[in-house]
Amino acid sequence: MTANPTGVPARPLSATTAMLDVRGLKKVYEGRGRSVEAVRDLTFTVAAGELVCIVGPSGAGKTTLLRCIAGLLDATAGEVVLEGERVTGPPPGMAVVFQEYGRSLFPWMTVRQNVELPLKEKKVPKDRRRRLVQDSLEAVGLAEAQDAHPWQLSGGMQQRVAIARAVAYEPHLLLMDEPFAAVDAQTRADLEDLVRSLWQRLGVTVLFVTHDIDESVYLGQRVIVLSNSPTVVLEDVPIDLPAERDQLTTRSLPRFAELRSHVYELIQLAKSGHRPA
Ligand code: ADP
Repeated sequence: MTANPTGVPARPLSATTAMLDVRGLKKVYEGRGRSVEAVRDLTFTVAAGELVCIVGPSGAGKTTLLRCIAGLLDATAGEVVLEGERVTGPPPGMAVVFQEYGRSLFPWMTVRQNVELPLKEKKVPKDRRRRLVQDSLEAVGLAEAQDAHPWQLSGGMQQRVAIARAVAYEPHLLLMDEPFAAVDAQTRADLEDLVRSLWQRLGVTVLFVTHDIDESVYLGQRVIVLSNSPTVVLEDVPIDLPAERDQLTTRSLPRFAELRSHVYELIQLAKSGHRPA
């Protein structure tokens, strides 16, 4: 990781160190003579290898939180610590998959070139690059589409390219920002299963931000529910569903319905302005 210019001592790494530690995060937007307190006080951790979903109503501060975690926005107070180091800019161990796949892929490059580009920037040797690109495209079922251009592919396929690119980068933390909001329901279900299977196979830590309650319960080992803005954590809900999940069986479990209702109620409370005691 990069040197720490803030002078805040990094914690020593150990087996119990959280992959991600968000501590007392606060963000106030300043501008045009007024200030907006978007995020008040967010504290949570994500352990190495976890798949955690963040859910909250529109305007709940999800984008603000994500930008702070990705090092794209400075916090007003508090800090984000990734693998023991304070985040002060885009951290090298992180990859992000955004909602707008159409804008995140370069249309003049082939699928293979798009996936390979960050690896070149990371100075991964050529042979290894080839292997990583091949493996990640196979993992998302796009090995046959390597020489196509993004605009020749469906929306769901383009988002799989974006996922392959993130996975090929071998991130320690994979951040996903409403990645399936723009695809149809069937594709969305397939992509959800793809994320679960990649996560199980690769052991990567995933933080998945969504406003979709069912999606958060289906995917996550935990669901962190945000209040409305100025944001705090309303509840950190453990999802005690079996590790092996599939769209039909898991979603028809009584426990799935209970958890879904619980998160739904929390979101309703959040919308009505409820804050934790
Ligand atoms: P979400 O992603 O959950 O919809 P956001 O993080 O976009 O939430 O927004 C949280 C709050 O911060 C909202 O009240 C929004 O109006 C405000 N906000 C977001 N970005 C800015 C900005 N650049 N300047 C001022 N206020 C902002």
